[in-house]
Amino acid sequence: WRRWLRAMAVLRDVEESFATPTERLERVVNSLAVEMFAGLASEDASKVRMLHTCVDLLPDGSEEGIYYAVDIGGTGFRFLKVELGAGSTIINQKIEHQPVKKELMEGTSEDFFNSIASTLKNFIEREGDEGRALGFTFSFPMRQFSIASGSLIRWTKEFSIEEAIGQDVAQCLNEALERNGLNLKVNALMNNTVGTLAMGHYYDEDTIAAVIIGAGTNACYIERNEAITKCQRLLTNSGQTVVNVEWGSFRPPQIPLTPYDICFYNETPNYYDQGFEKMISGVYLGEIARLVFHKMAQESDVFGTDVDGLAIPFILSTPCLSAIREDDSLDLKEVGRILEEHLKIHNVPLKTRRLVQRVCDIITQRAARLAAAGIVAILQKLGRDGTLCGTTRVRSIAGVPKRSVIAIEGGLYQEYSLFREYLNEAVLEILGEEIAATVVLKVVEEGSGVGAALIAAAYSSTR
Ligand code: ADP
Repeated sequence: WRRWLRAMAVLRDVEESFATPTERLERVVNSLAVEMFAGLASEDASKVRMLHTCVDLLPDGSEEGIYYAVDIGGTGFRFLKVELGAGSTIINQKIEHQPVKKELMEGTSEDFFNSIASTLKNFIEREGDEGRALGFTFSFPMRQFSIASGSLIRWTKEFSIEEAIGQDVAQCLNEALERNGLNLKVNALMNNTVGTLAMGHYYDEDTIAAVIIGAGTNACYIERNEAITKCQRLLTNSGQTVVNVEWGSFRPPQIPLTPYDICFYNETPNYYDQGFEKMISGVYLGEIARLVFHKMAQESDVFGTDVDGLAIPFILSTPCLSAIREDDSLDLKEVGRILEEHLKIHNVPLKTRRLVQRVCDIITQRAARLAAAGIVAILQKLGRDGTLCGTTRVRSIAGVPKRSVIAIEGGLYQEYSLFREYLNEAVLEILGEEIAATVVLKVVEEGSGVGAALIAAAYSSTR
């Protein structure tokens, strides 16, 4: 019984340190908005890089023809062919997915880009049509010099091809395409958030921002050129440019880092960084839960004595965490099954299964609510959140409220319905009903890749 109390003490501690009451979230919103302002003035002055993407033109539905795209940065490579017709019509699209091998993630730059180029070549040969242009989604922080070039600043997630840092990744791909005998060249290079924004914008011109909540998390939005003070005298046709927030590296000062957050900092590549991402995104949530369970097993025997499975890093995936949380059977049968199958812990009593479910709920809530705070921070930056000059929130807007559409993509958001509910709930809490009613969170399927083809199309028809 005393041991059970110790497990409960761990739970209470987790409950407290993961708490995100509305008022705390509002302060997270303000902090991120302040960082965004700072990042627009100078990249080094802020925890978020606010990267200037060079994308000053978004597809509007008038694009036509066949385009290809390569999408890299998540759990796999994606190769896409998109056929566009007038009036926001995608006549045909074909997407091939290929898992990335661990060796490629840590090997040489040449092997990495060669592998992409040769798979693209095979794909194009099977399709039998070269297409007009190639969009390249590369979802790691880059410094862009033009719409079709950019150098890698650093790797995130599980990638660590050291020699690629500082290289122009579009050029690397172009050279690999040439080595493989392909005529096609990258004419639009972007981050996945920008692709998602492009696809949102293709269908709905009120789309002002895009958010990814998948393996990783990030956001971008459309900014006025005058506001991007670090790029002086920025001249573009539209007077606006897409800014890639790189919010994964934000560390919300109001949210304590718990031992469950700090511990795995030492077990992942890029451990020194990506605070926001590690609290929100799919690569990490299951691992946070595992660390909590491991602590509980060390403190008590609630999981029994055969608990070696709990000591293995990343053994519990985020889809498992969501399946645990969404088990609504009375006896939590699915929770028991996942513990057996994935963690090799057998005959876990119902009481412990409830505890397990509660932990998964707490981790989900913190993640979803922080993502919501991120979205509201963008709205605040754009003056669309109902606050006046960062003072008290005004619960109504004079005149006709502007509609703000946010395109959202990513497996965690799309596949985990409770995550969506918690996120929506938090947006409503922070903004209040009236302003929240002007905000539309819209899932954009395959936006990061299809959007790259759309931007390639937009640029190829004008320049
Ligand atoms: P990528 O960032 O690789 O493009 P995706 O958008 O495909 O990623 O999302 C993959 C991530 O989504 C995985 O890391 C996984 O954790 C998460 N995910 C996928 N399915 C689910 C699910 N059913 N429940 C919770 N998370 C999920």
